[in-house]
Amino acid sequence: MSKIPITIAKGDGIGPEIMDASLHILDAAGAKLEIHEIEVGEKAYLQGFETGIDPKVWETIRSTKAFLKAPITTPQGGGYKSLNVTIRTTLGLFANVRPCISYFPYIQTKHPGMDVVIVRENEEGLYTGIEYQQTPDMTQSLRLISRPGSEKIIRYAFEYAKRQGRKKVTCFAKDNIMKISDGLFRKVFDEVAAEYSDILNEFWIVDIGAAKLADSPELFDVIVMPNLYGDILSDVAAQISGSVGLVGSANIGEYGAMFEAIHGSAPKYAGENIANPSALLLASLLMLNHIGESETATLIHNAWLKTIEDGIHTKDIYNEGSSRSLVGTKEFGEAVAKNLGKNPEKLDLVSYKKQESFKKITLTEIPPQKRELVGCDVFIYAKPPLENFLDKIVKVNAGPLHLTLITNRGVQVWPEGQPETFCVDHFRLRFSAPDFKTVSYDLILQILQDLNRMGIDVIKTENLYLFDKEPGFSQAKN
Ligand code: NAP
Repeated sequence: MSKIPITIAKGDGIGPEIMDASLHILDAAGAKLEIHEIEVGEKAYLQGFETGIDPKVWETIRSTKAFLKAPITTPQGGGYKSLNVTIRTTLGLFANVRPCISYFPYIQTKHPGMDVVIVRENEEGLYTGIEYQQTPDMTQSLRLISRPGSEKIIRYAFEYAKRQGRKKVTCFAKDNIMKISDGLFRKVFDEVAAEYSDILNEFWIVDIGAAKLADSPELFDVIVMPNLYGDILSDVAAQISGSVGLVGSANIGEYGAMFEAIHGSAPKYAGENIANPSALLLASLLMLNHIGESETATLIHNAWLKTIEDGIHTKDIYNEGSSRSLVGTKEFGEAVAKNLGKNPEKLDLVSYKKQESFKKITLTEIPPQKRELVGCDVFIYAKPPLENFLDKIVKVNAGPLHLTLITNRGVQVWPEGQPETFCVDHFRLRFSAPDFKTVSYDLILQILQDLNRMGIDVIKTENLYLFDKEPGFSQAKN
């Protein structure tokens, strides 16, 4: 039978060791893979590729069926972009699936019954990397949440639950504070959930949801969340299941897929033969299943479970009571390879189901909305106190547009500010018409020209729109 082409990258830090241990097992199990190795990460960054990838290797990734990537080290500081985020977003790998399962009593955990899959949105949120320093005091990260982006990941979570026979999908977001962006995520969740009557659904505000997850993970089944929450909480979930070294992940898109450990390159263990290769190995099994090698994935997973049951453990999961021998990365890989063909005796046997090919997500058609311009927020660089420049700006107006509000870091400071409010050098001036009357963009340009003429330092503007008569901007003054 012909071999299936895949791309691999051994990455940085512990990457090469855990990749070699994983490939040793795949090879011993007879996985029919044609391996194309590429180099990404630290070396590519040092060669001057700011995203950690030589553009020439995209074609290799694109022309193979899947990409198995070991962790890489992201250089600190400006000028570099995360390779992981670049690959996920460039290839449209919108769904990041992270199963966090406990292997008690063989691996110590306070949560013996834990079996949670985190489905993390992978393309937007705070990971768009659009950031600015706007004034000496102020920096900004743009957090983008779109309707199609939310719908794709939420539909994927429900489809995943249906395919895997899971009972419930929970959504975490912070819609009580970010009413527009997380509010949209929750709204789309409610709309999509209504179409899956055979799957339970529930919503938690992310802070209390996170506390419940850390305390009682058995309450959850599949959890879908925006990018940053999913990144943080999947590490929490992995660690409380036993170790971050145990969780692999699949990054799934319409045109490709990438498989990786959820942890990073753990540079302090590089070359030490200490790291647990299980996360990358389990990621490689998700990959085998994805490319149709389900039987090989099943064979390896059960051998891995048997090794865990045998008490052959790496340092991160070693425990005097339940472990039998402490092994290094390489020896752990060899032990799993030796166990091929054996099954676990106590832990649940795993059987991978043949994957259907990726079902393109069909997005709901939204009726066109009437969008009306009703004003503008102008952000300015000005040293507090407000009295230094208030006299000038209260006089600025154009047609029906008047100054109606000034805030500092979102807190109302005019009219009726409070003396205790701490201010930085970054103010927002809201110009709007009474009753949100529609205005033309010319009037906004006129306001900007007036401010400029007065020597007010304008940083940026945000237009205020009504969508079908509903404000598309936050109105709370405090
Ligand atoms: P990290 O590499 O995940 O390591 C943090 C700690 O987690 C380690 O010190 C170790 O804990 C434990 N750990 C992680 N992987 C392990 C394994 N396989 N076996 C045993 N223990 C393991 O996080 P970091 O130190 O914050 O990040 C290091 C670099 O990785 C950074 O450059 C970061 O940007 C990058 N990173 C890459 C990816 C990726 O490529 N997908 C993801 C995350 C981070 P103990 O110290 O307790 O032993």
